This record gives sequence, C-alpha cells and structure tokens, in this order.
Amino acid sequence: MDHGLRRKRLAARLPELGIDALLVTRLPNVRYLTGFTGSNGQVMVSANDAAFFTDGRYTEQARREVPDAERVTYLDGFPQVLPDACTRLRVARLGFEAGGVTFRFHQELEERLSGVELVPVGEEVERLRWVKDPEELRLLDRAQEITDETFQAGLGTLREGVTERELAFELDVEMRRLGADGPAFETIVAFGENAAEPHHEPVGRPIRPGDVVKMDFGALVEGYHADMTRTVAFGEPPAALRDVHDLVLRAQRAGIDAVRGGAAAADVDRAAREVIEEAGYGGAFPHGLGHGVGLEIHEGPRLRRGNDEVVPAGAVVTVEPGVYLPGLGGVRIEDMVEVTEDGGRALPRSARKLIVV
Ligand code: ZN
Ligand code: ZN
Repeated sequence: MDHGLRRKRLAARLPELGIDALLVTRLPNVRYLTGFTGSNGQVMVSANDAAFFTDGRYTEQARREVPDAERVTYLDGFPQVLPDACTRLRVARLGFEAGGVTFRFHQELEERLSGVELVPVGEEVERLRWVKDPEELRLLDRAQEITDETFQAGLGTLREGVTERELAFELDVEMRRLGADGPAFETIVAFGENAAEPHHEPVGRPIRPGDVVKMDFGALVEGYHADMTRTVAFGEPPAALRDVHDLVLRAQRAGIDAVRGGAAAADVDRAAREVIEEAGYGGAFPHGLGHGVGLEIHEGPRLRRGNDEVVPAGAVVTVEPGVYLPGLGGVRIEDMVEVTEDGGRALPRSARKLIVV
C-alpha cells in the first residue's frame, strides 16, 4: 500500500483547513497513513513532510513498518517531543483530531506548544478512508471469504443442546483456523427469543427446536474487518418469523439495489426501511441500515435517516436491516457491499435465504 500517496492526499487538504500540519492520533488513521500496526503511534503530516512518533517498545517495528517517514522514539511521553517536531516542520498552526484526543491531552498540547496555534479538525483522514483502494478491497474480500467458510462450519455444529456461547466460540476458533488474525468484533450469537435483541451477548442458553439462530460475526485480516449477519432456523421456526425473514430479505434487496456511487446515505436507508414500514414493522427496525467498514468495524459513510452525505463509489458499506419482536425472536440479514459507479457488489457468497438446519 502506498502510504506516502495517502499522506500526499491529506497534505493537499491542509490549505483549505487553514493549518500547516495535522497531528493524527487516532490509531486506525495512523495505520492508514503509515502502515504502523502497534498500539501506540502518532503521525504529523505537513505539506511536504511527515514525522512519525512512537515509544521505545516499537522502535524496531516502526523501522520495518514505517521506512519512508522520519521516526521519533520517545521515552518520557509523547507531547514532550512535539515542540521540536513543530520547529523542524515549520508548523505555526497545528491541526489536531477533535475526535481523537482527550481533554487532558489537549491541555498538555497547549502547555507544551505555547507558540503554536492549535486548530480542531474533523474527520479528515476518516473521509479519505471511505474510498478503498484495490489492496484494501482484496483484504476485505479475503476477510469475507473466511467469514463465508466459517458460516458453513458453524451450521455444521448446530445440534440440540449447543449453547450460544459454544457456537460463538466455534465461530471464533474457525476464523482463526482459516487464517484470520481474529474475530473483527465480539461475535454475536442469539437463539430464539434472544434474537429480539439487536446486539445480544452470547449466554449459556441451549438451542431448542424451532429457534431462530442469529449469527453476526466477521474475520479480521491485516487490519480489515468483515461483518456479516445470517439468521437461520433450528427446525421449523414460528410462522411469523418465517414471514419476517422474507420481509427482511426483501428490505435488504431493496437496500442493496439503492446502493450506487453518488446516492445519498439517507436514501439508501429509506429504500430498505420503506419495505419494512409498509409491512407494518417500522417500529421493530430501531437502527440505521448500515455503516462503512474497513480499518474500523464501524466507520463512515453511515446509512441512516437524516444523513444527507453522499456515498462515494469505492466505499464499502454494510446493508443490514432487521426486525426484532420481543418475546419471539428477530431476524437480521447483513452483507458488506462495495459501492460502484452504477450499483453495488455484495461481498458475501453465503446464501441469504432462510436455511432450516
Ligand atoms: Zn454485523
Ligand atoms: Zn454491521
């Protein structure tokens, strides 16, 4: 991946932001701009230069992962080395990520950088990350492949008495066995009435005939997150839930059909939501239709009501309508979709129809 090119794109935004450099402290953004994968690192990007900062634990790793930027290793805390860096990079107005610093850190910056004006900046790097390059798409596809294979394996482990926690564990282990770095987020497995909670934490509830089984999980591959939900049934489910599965599937299809480069995020949400509202279940769909996904499991663009942001070609978003009926169960179907100029490409190969095990 060409991290230098990414930093150039960010540097091109600096004049409009009215700053000489941006101090990037959110780790996914640092990784995006430098390739650094450790747990502590920062990068300052100016018009023609970049300085990367980390602590002594990561000196060697940074040498390997960030060969193309000046590297500064600190022993006594990060802000102490900033005055020097600002002098070297000739920074009079320094942007910082408003969503990426604590109040205390900001105070420290003010103390250390008395001659430098600090300017809060919004989600500039996040915006760059919305549009994926071919290498990022390859990694997301790889993460999805593992997720698809894991889904098949998970179906094979469904037998009477297995618990939510056991199934979640099997999914996590299978993803690692297939080469994932780990699960992309805490795996959700919900049986029967527990599936009425959109984000249910797996418990010791054993599976029983007629339960729906909602699995929301994904593999993590080289920093890139897969995110898929399938709802299947263990034996014939209640008729109402079979109907709801049909409905959610139609809503998801409408949502995917509304995805294209240039579409307003709220319009994609509406396309799916209308299907559910027309069936009388509008109140049972209490979350947005989807979210961008990449170096973070939840990123922009967010497909939800009131968001008039435009979804660009090259973004990867989830389309995940759900209907949740307390006491009975719930259905969500979620796919990652690559936004193209004239439509969307769903990444998963796993069947969406109701599978009865
Ligand atoms: Zn999900
Ligand atoms: Zn999701």
